[in-house]
Amino acid sequence: MDEILKNIKEKDPGEIEFKQAVEEVLGSVKPVLDRYPEYRRAAVLERIVEPERVIIFRVPWMDDEGQVHVNRGFRVEMNSAIGPFKGGLRFHPSVKLSIMKFLAFEQVFKNSLTTLGMGGAKGGSDFNPKGRSDHEIMRFCQSFMAELFRHIGPHTDIPAGDIGVGTREIGYLFGMYKKLKNEFTGVLTGKSLNWGGSLVRPEATGYGCVYFASEMLKTRNQNLEGRTCLVSGSGNVAQYTSEKILHLGGRVVTLSDSSGYVYDAQGLDADKLEFVKYLKNIKRGRIEQYAEKYPETSYFQADPGLDHNPLWNHKADCAFPCAFENEVQQQDARNMINNGVQLVCEGANMPATPEALDIFSDSNILYGPSKAANAGGVAVSGLEMAQNSMRLNWPAEEVNSRLKIIMQSIHQTCLNAAEEYGEPGSYVAGANIAGFVKVVNAMLDQGLV
Ligand code: NDP
Repeated sequence: MDEILKNIKEKDPGEIEFKQAVEEVLGSVKPVLDRYPEYRRAAVLERIVEPERVIIFRVPWMDDEGQVHVNRGFRVEMNSAIGPFKGGLRFHPSVKLSIMKFLAFEQVFKNSLTTLGMGGAKGGSDFNPKGRSDHEIMRFCQSFMAELFRHIGPHTDIPAGDIGVGTREIGYLFGMYKKLKNEFTGVLTGKSLNWGGSLVRPEATGYGCVYFASEMLKTRNQNLEGRTCLVSGSGNVAQYTSEKILHLGGRVVTLSDSSGYVYDAQGLDADKLEFVKYLKNIKRGRIEQYAEKYPETSYFQADPGLDHNPLWNHKADCAFPCAFENEVQQQDARNMINNGVQLVCEGANMPATPEALDIFSDSNILYGPSKAANAGGVAVSGLEMAQNSMRLNWPAEEVNSRLKIIMQSIHQTCLNAAEEYGEPGSYVAGANIAGFVKVVNAMLDQGLV
């Protein structure tokens, strides 16, 4: 395993996020390799850390003033052992190969845990959609798809949304794909409802995360009723995580964006949440405006010079990081535990740094890692694909109840795998091992390809 990490460091220097994600998984699967020596003989680790295919392309587009811009597009097709490649697209200035590879790697195990047949991929661009007009967004999406369409398809690779890619962007991407291929197929998920989208897909990642948290609490005969919750982010995942916490009687006291966070001691209610959805999804404003609308709340500007985020330093029972990778640092983890947090459940991908993860692992709190806890989004994307194939639309209750069953099953799978391999109660070990075993068994069945 050391050899593999050394190789990554030497071959791909600077891919810090990718190495972090690989290290986290490899740290858990040693007992599996010890039990099944054939895995080592077949070099499954060496194979699983190497993407099947990486596509990097130029994305030229013109802004409203007639100025030409060039961005870089990516699609990392990591592993298709258990199904066609599947994973979101991210439009954010921080996008680079290391981020794409870490997200695609995580996606392989996450998709494996959902019980559905989907391989892992991720893509996106360093394009910054913030402040861009609808026309600019459309032109960018069209240019992006003018290359991506060659590499994807409903049986090959089915992208979805992620940071900066919501229903609007999926619409423009789909329109261009349809024009280029002259076919109406379920090649993207997260589509609008009236042309092939699934009910409950927008809610799925957040709702799924809270269902997973509820299952974790159940193991200690607890629930979310009356619990104070810290939530970060204010995008898709944060909004629907908050909504489900409210449904289950919890109190959400924080939300954030990259500029800062709000603290609302009284807690969000349905009206305030509607305002956040309007502010973020339609007005595309800043979370600071929440504090302007509700003056009894406080706004704190982000300070990049700090070694911690004060959002995580409020008294609370539960924490739901739903914004960005590595947003929870070592000091944040300490602050959470000192402030009484008993459960951390990750809506965002890999939001805890390795040092923060060590603190959570050494404590007695319930810690739900992202590849298990936020798998609800891709699970409902899988259900969207199934509905597209059948040309059917399931009612919201049906999709929601399937989502709940899938999250309960992921939770139990994690606990079972952790128990079987001598790490009882560790959701990190359980998620990594269960996701890994299914994928490598499929790789072995399919020979050296
Ligand atoms: P959105 O684009 O809808 O929202 C992202 C949120 O994170 C925004 O509030 C954004 O603020 C904030 N944010 C971005 N950068 C930073 C930063 N550097 N520091 C603090 N906050 C930041 O994305 P999603 O809600 O879809 O995604 C959130 C997380 O969930 C990501 O990690 C994503 O990979 C993960 N995820 C999403 C899934 C989905 O179905 N959408 C599925 C599984 C995982 P701002 O507006 O200022 O940029």
